Amino acid sequence: MKNLLIIAGSDPSGGAGIQADIKTATAHKIHSSCVITALTAQNTQKVSAIHIPPTDFLQKQLATLISDVKFKVAKVGMLANRETIEEIDDFFAKNPKIKLVLDPVMVATSGDLLLEKEALESLKKLARKAYLITPNIDEAQILSAKTIKTTADIKKAAQEIQKLGAKNVLIKAGHLNSAKITNILLDEKGNFYQITNKKIQNQEFHGTGCTLASAIASNLAKGFPLVKSTRKANKYIEKSLKNALKIGFGAKVLRHFS
Ligand code: PLP
Repeated sequence: MKNLLIIAGSDPSGGAGIQADIKTATAHKIHSSCVITALTAQNTQKVSAIHIPPTDFLQKQLATLISDVKFKVAKVGMLANRETIEEIDDFFAKNPKIKLVLDPVMVATSGDLLLEKEALESLKKLARKAYLITPNIDEAQILSAKTIKTTADIKKAAQEIQKLGAKNVLIKAGHLNSAKITNILLDEKGNFYQITNKKIQNQEFHGTGCTLASAIASNLAKGFPLVKSTRKANKYIEKSLKNALKIGFGAKVLRHFS
């Protein structure tokens, strides 16, 4: 069985974060090893607190794991603050062969901040080491310093984000107002791919971004090329959204397996 390294935050609701990542990897029949960057106190409606473990403990988790287990692919989610990002940056500097799928988590669907504002520059620096970066529209606007209203804007933003140094860029357009969700992938050769899903109207979902990045990382770990990994992940998201679960009073959570 192939394995995947997941570095992310905990979401006790199980809708997003490392819990969504593990379920997604398992649904893809991939073993996952996990390093936790932050604990959130969270339900389907809000994040009420964040606890960030000391950086030297994060370093211990990574060093102990990597001294024993080898990985070809890693998925990185919530990083919370500058110190954590710098530790993760250092880890990938020491392990440059691991393909990094970076979900640049900034704000939850609930509107709660998951990344300290002053950490943005460090996140941009980490983007240099990404094999794939997967911002949503809001994150893409912040990373590219461009306003996004149209598909053409998304393409321009993707090019700007690639200039930060990320090899491949996938912008998730779920938040753009239209009948379809068109995710735009810009690959390292400069080719654009549009990957479209039907939009499920008037419903909020929690954990879509984490799940998509983990599904792509799982497919990469299985050895699929990038475009195929992304298309397959989109199909997985479509199915997980169609069968989403209402477990609380807030956003629905994806059904990661059936
Ligand atoms: N909580 C954690 C720990 C996360 O990593 C993320 C997103 O990556 C979220 C919450 C937010 O998920 P969503 O924006 O889908 O609500």
